[in-house]
Amino acid sequence: MVAIKDQVVLITGASSGIGAACARAFAEARTKLVLAARRRDRLEQLADELNQEFASEIHLLQLDVRDRPQVEAALQSLPDSWGNIDILVNNAGLSRGLDKLYEGDVQDWEEMIDTNIKGLLYVTRSVVPGMVARGRGHVINIGSIAGHQTYPNGNVYCGTKAAVRAISEGLKQDLLGTPVRVSSVDPGLVETEFSQVRFHGDAERAEKVYQGLIPLTAEDVADVVLFCATRPAHVNLSEVLLLPTDQS
Ligand code: NDP
Repeated sequence: MVAIKDQVVLITGASSGIGAACARAFAEARTKLVLAARRRDRLEQLADELNQEFASEIHLLQLDVRDRPQVEAALQSLPDSWGNIDILVNNAGLSRGLDKLYEGDVQDWEEMIDTNIKGLLYVTRSVVPGMVARGRGHVINIGSIAGHQTYPNGNVYCGTKAAVRAISEGLKQDLLGTPVRVSSVDPGLVETEFSQVRFHGDAERAEKVYQGLIPLTAEDVADVVLFCATRPAHVNLSEVLLLPTDQS
C-alpha cells in the first residue's frame, strides 16, 4: 500500500452514500479533502464529523455538476493549497425512474444524462489538465454494473453508465504516456439514498429493490476506491466490478 497522506482528493457527490463513505476512507488515510455536492448542510455535517475524528483538512464546494460555468469557476477558484488535485473521485450521479423507454419521463432522462455523463465530463475537463501538467494524478470514476448489463426498464440509466465506462476507457487511452491513472469502479446494488432518489422519495418502492439479497454497503465500495488509489504508481486497476455475492 502506497501512502497518500497529504494528497488532495476531490470527491463529487460527497454528501451521502458512496461519496460520503469515500470521504471517510480518505480522511482515515490522512489526505486533504475537497468535498462537493449540492446539499451544503450535509457536507458541513460530514466535515464536522471527519474533523473531530481525524482532524481532517477539508474544503467544501457547494456544486451542481450539471452547471458547467459553476463547475469551471469553482475549480478554478480553489485556494492555492487545494487547487492541485491528486485524486479525483467522480461519484456524483443518480437514477430517476424505472420505466419502459416509450413510457419514460423525458425530464428524468435529462437529469440522468446531465448529471452522470455531462457533469462527470465537466469536472474531469477542469481537473485533468492540472494532473497532466504536474505529472501525477488519478481519476476514479464510479460506474456501475449497469454499464455492463442493461436490465429491464433500466434503459437510460444503463445508457449513462455505459457511457461512463466508455469515457473512462477513452480517458485512459488519451492519458497513455503520462503518469495519470484512470480507474473505473463499477458496483452492483449498494444500499444508499440512491433508490429513494430513483423513486422520487417513495420509500416503500425503494426498499423493495434490496429484497432477496444482501446489498453492498457504501463502505464496501469506498474500500475498493481506496485500494485503487493506494496501489504503486505502475499499477492501474483500470476496471473493478464489485457485486453483492447473490447478485447475478
Ligand atoms: P446517493 O443518492 O446516496 O448519492 C448520490 C450523490 O450524488 C449525492 O451526494 C448527491 O448530492 C450527488 N449528486 C447528485 N446529483 C448531483 C449534482 N447535480 N451535482 C452534484 N452532486 C450531485 O447514491 P449513491 O451513493 O449510491 O450513488 C453514488 C454513485 O454510485 C452514483 O454515480 C451512482 O450512479 C453509483 N452507483 C450506485 C449504485 C447503488 O446501487 N446505490 C450502484 C452502482 C453505481 P446532492 O444531492 O447533495 O447534490
